[in-house]
Amino acid sequence: MKIHEYQAKELMAKYGIPVPRGGMAASPDDARRVAEELGGSVVVKAQVHAGGRGKAGGVKVVDSPDAAAEFTGSILGKQLVTFQTGPEGVPVNSVLVEETMDIAQELYVAIVLDPSERRPVVIASAAGGMEIEEVAEATPEKILRAVVDPTVGLQPYQGRALAYGIGVPAELVRPAADLIVRLYRLMADLDCSQVEINPLVVTGDGRVLPVDAKLNLDDDAMFRHKDLTALRDASQEDPLESQAHDIGVIYVRLDGDVGCLVNGAGLAMATMDIVTAVGAAPANFLDVGGGADEDRIRAAVRILLSDPNVKRVLVNIFGGILRNDVLARGLVGAYADTGSKAPIIARMLGTNVDEGRQILRDSGLDVTVVETLKDAAEALSAA
Ligand code: GDP
Ligand code: MN
Repeated sequence: MKIHEYQAKELMAKYGIPVPRGGMAASPDDARRVAEELGGSVVVKAQVHAGGRGKAGGVKVVDSPDAAAEFTGSILGKQLVTFQTGPEGVPVNSVLVEETMDIAQELYVAIVLDPSERRPVVIASAAGGMEIEEVAEATPEKILRAVVDPTVGLQPYQGRALAYGIGVPAELVRPAADLIVRLYRLMADLDCSQVEINPLVVTGDGRVLPVDAKLNLDDDAMFRHKDLTALRDASQEDPLESQAHDIGVIYVRLDGDVGCLVNGAGLAMATMDIVTAVGAAPANFLDVGGGADEDRIRAAVRILLSDPNVKRVLVNIFGGILRNDVLARGLVGAYADTGSKAPIIARMLGTNVDEGRQILRDSGLDVTVVETLKDAAEALSAA
């Protein structure tokens, strides 16, 4: 789950990380009021779940409360399109109004989970303010890494080595290292899948603090953080992904035309590989899970079918706890609900497979029943 910059900064402040003074505003009047409280010039930043706002016109430094209100009015209710969003963009429903910083240095700090290390890794760079992918491409030597032993956490010496290594002035190495250690504590406590500060700035008046803050919470850990579920902003999510989230299925929208209905993440990945191998493209990743009932299958397939890009559907189900007859009834129900005519290629195995296949054959829908993944691939390339 992604959260907004202003929410991430509030969490950082709770962990003792210094953040710029400021506040969220959801109307031009709110923005004027926050700017008046701050005094002087302020920066107004569109709050959306995407980076690249600066280049897309979503961040502006202004010199008066009226100008803050005016800029806020010009972006609220609009879609912001950045290189990280689709062409339709994401809606701007709020802004963050903050004191401006006298920026002397722009640095980069992030903490991610490294699957090959199987540990959290802190990534830091002197090249802040640009995309880390570009830095990694052009000047990989500018990226420092510190692998964290999760049983003891990030050690102060690691924080100091990183701060020193990315060019923090000697007298600020200690507070910078302290910030990085606190950031790790936040990440570990709140089960973040990723945190990124880009840029982390050194100011002319000798402070080190985040000017940007991105924080992703691990959906699978949210049960431990009930208080954080209120931070969700569904307006920023793909509407189909958001509906899927609400019914408890894992659905990621992609841009192909083959709707994939699968149970189990591993089988879903393998199914997408098969689709790609025959030159087609999946419209989605969908894992309905092992324990889905007929209603949930029906709702999940409705979501899958309401993507207008879906022209055909590949069913790849290994029925264990999920019985194939239940699956088939949910599938047929969703076709009835939506009136879809998309042909189905169905590979089903396991519990009650014969009943499941019969329900599909009797449904009057365009169904090709296949036995193996290879048959499924052939049917797909023929369709
Ligand atoms: P992003 O483009 O979505 O990553 O948004 P950021 O929060 O990183 O803001 C984009 C850029 O705006 C930053 O890299 C800064 O260079 C600039 N910026 C943000 N806040 C301030 C500020 O207070 N003063 C100045 N001079 N620039 C700022
Ligand atoms: Mn940024």
